[in-house]
Amino acid sequence: MISIEDYIRDIQDFPKMGVVFKDITPLLANHLAIERCLELLLEKVGDEKIDKVVGIESRGFFFGMLLAQKLNAGFVPIRKPGKLPYETHKEPYLLEYGMDVLEMHEDAIKKGERILIHDDVLATGGTARAACNLVKKCGGEIVQCNFIMQIDFLCGNEKLKSYDVASVLNY
Ligand code: IMP
Repeated sequence: MISIEDYIRDIQDFPKMGVVFKDITPLLANHLAIERCLELLLEKVGDEKIDKVVGIESRGFFFGMLLAQKLNAGFVPIRKPGKLPYETHKEPYLLEYGMDVLEMHEDAIKKGERILIHDDVLATGGTARAACNLVKKCGGEIVQCNFIMQIDFLCGNEKLKSYDVASVLNY
């Protein structure tokens, strides 16, 4: 049986000194690991009906699209500023130093649609919370936020208290 943990590589001091970056590229490079990870993410969703999977730029796009296809759902990208061509909702969020903004097309989600938010890593939770706020601006109903992994000591799920949060791996 494949262990997803074996396909996550720790990169010391990336993107800056003192940070240990969890690298999913070994996982993306192995089709059996992809299949197993997708299966585990789908188990987290269970029998819930999902209308749209929202993937967060950029590593949330990989499994986000695969999940959408398996769940017979559409896929919606959330992107960094200036990347989406149509009218967008914008949501600022706090980084360790400074602010950033995430954008989503304003017509991407219809009121009442059932949404799965997906990203590779839940760290401090700022990114995922901004994604939730974008979905709420469109009136979407957030069924779950799921991740390949969550970094427990950064307490990201504190920022997602009102949502169902699920991860394949906890560090
Ligand atoms: P947060 O906003 O602090 O929860 O950070 C989560 C965002 O940063 C996600 O979009 C991740 O892709 C990215 N991220 C944070 N830490 C890592 C990591 O160790 N590996 C890969 N992505 C990370």
